[in-house]
Amino acid sequence: MVCPQCQQSDIAVLEKRDIEGGVRRRRVCNGCQHRFTTYERVEIPQLVVLKRDGGREHYNEEKVKRGIEVSCKNRPVQPEQIDNAVENVTRKLRQGDNEVVSTNQVGELVLEELLALDKIAYLRFVSVHRCFADVEAFKKEIQRINN
Ligand SMILES: [Zn+2]
Repeated sequence: MVCPQCQQSDIAVLEKRDIEGGVRRRRVCNGCQHRFTTYERVEIPQLVVLKRDGGREHYNEEKVKRGIEVSCKNRPVQPEQIDNAVENVTRKLRQGDNEVVSTNQVGELVLEELLALDKIAYLRFVSVHRCFADVEAFKKEIQRINN
C-alpha cells in the first residue's frame, strides 16, 4: 500500500477496528503525515436475481428498499424499521447458499417483512407485485391476513 497523497509506502496504523464484515484501519503516512482510512472486507459473492422474463440482474438492496418505502408511504413505519426489513431480506436470501434467486423469492421475503410491519403496506405491495386475477382474489388475501 502507498500513501494516496505522496505515493510512498512507509505507513503506520493508528487505529484498527472490527466492523461488520471486516476491519477498518485509520492510517497515517510517515512521509507526509496524511491520514486516511482503509477497509478490509470479506468478499461476498454477488447475488443474481432471475427475473420473470428470464433475464438476470444483480441483486440490488436499494431496489428492495425503494419497493418497501413506496409501500410504507404515509404509514407509521420508521426508516430504521425499513432498513431492518431490507437487511432481513438480504440475510435470508444469502442463507440459501444459492447465488441465484428468483424475483418471486425476493418478493415473498419482502411480503413477510411488510406483514410484520404494517398490513396496509403489505396490501399495497401485494397489489403492485402480485397479479390478482380479480377483486375477489384481493379480498380473500385481505381476509387471510386479518385472521
Ligand atoms: Zn504521504
